[in-house]
Amino acid sequence: MSSSPSFWSPIVGQLVPYVPGEQPRVPDLVKLNTNENPYPPSPRVIAAIQDAARQGLQLYPDPESVALREAIAAQHGLDVGQVFVGNGSDEVLAHAFFAFFQQRQPLLVPDITYSFYQVYCGLYGIAAELQPLDEQLRIAVAALARRAAQGCAGLVLANPNAPTGIGLTLDQIEQLLRACPDRVVLVDEAYIDFGGESALGLIARHPNLLVVQTLSKSRSLAGLRVGFACGQRPLIDALERVKNSFNSYPLDRLAQAGARAAIEDQAYFEQTRQAVMHSREGLVLQLEDLGFEVLPSQANFLFARHPAQDAAALAAALRARAVLVRHFKTPRIAQYLRISVGTPAQCDALVQALTDILGAARR
Ligand SMILES: *Cc1c(COP(=O)(O)O)cnc(C)c1O
Repeated sequence: MSSSPSFWSPIVGQLVPYVPGEQPRVPDLVKLNTNENPYPPSPRVIAAIQDAARQGLQLYPDPESVALREAIAAQHGLDVGQVFVGNGSDEVLAHAFFAFFQQRQPLLVPDITYSFYQVYCGLYGIAAELQPLDEQLRIAVAALARRAAQGCAGLVLANPNAPTGIGLTLDQIEQLLRACPDRVVLVDEAYIDFGGESALGLIARHPNLLVVQTLSKSRSLAGLRVGFACGQRPLIDALERVKNSFNSYPLDRLAQAGARAAIEDQAYFEQTRQAVMHSREGLVLQLEDLGFEVLPSQANFLFARHPAQDAAALAAALRARAVLVRHFKTPRIAQYLRISVGTPAQCDALVQALTDILGAARR
């Protein structure tokens, strides 16, 4: 039981807050611990933000972010009423949990996935029923569909999953959508642009599908805080109601302008995401050469374990060599490291550090 100073609302002492990866203020670190994009955002983003900063910061931003939503809608063949935007996809997810999952039955959540989902459940009093991944750390789709059909508050999935990097096919997503047509299936596509198949094209056929994406990873804008959700109108209307009961202006003028420019610069997006995917494939081979087992990743990170080395010790040894990776103490995955794909130079630094560490361990 947490301590609860007398000023706190009773629930505050019981919250289990999310713990983000470290953001150290040390220069020259090889930072591969929070799945940021190693490349800067498009130069058009910087220009758009500078323009926005010169015009009208004394005025409130557009509370409906119409220009940004139109750009997102146009890109995905949706209409603007099918797009909701928020201050990072974390905020979008929080509103979605509030809007859809406070039901009598439990929300179905994979046992190993983005840990923020359970944090929102705690915040909003939603019971989460954990659904075990299979032995290969894949989502057990058939079992999950069977369970969903028995009644639930809904389903939340990251596709590709985090921290495994393993993706689902659209057929598998549709199987889950059909298993609980009266509940929302939330598909968090934070990493979809690095090789997965987006479910955005299923929205027209499935009124219970909500797809959430972020500009933090594939658009190199983790620092700007922009995420969005797409779905049929009634779902988006619910998110708008929640948002307008919380904060009318979650996206400031700079964020709206910069995000829109990022969406519109398709060529830069293609170039950087291809570079990340290319580095990922090279890094997989190098890690395997060093003896790691690497899960098949469709994301901008790898999830890997070394059969002869303790993962926490490896993470500490890397840290001592100024390379940061993420290690989770969570039971089934405590022997894995999650390694964000960096620039070629950062990947080389990682491989060099691991070569040193493993060489020293053999001597
Ligand atoms: C990074 C991440 C997010 C959060 O993205 P923001 O838009 O930066 O809030 C959401 N879901 C998953 C699975 C992520 O990895």
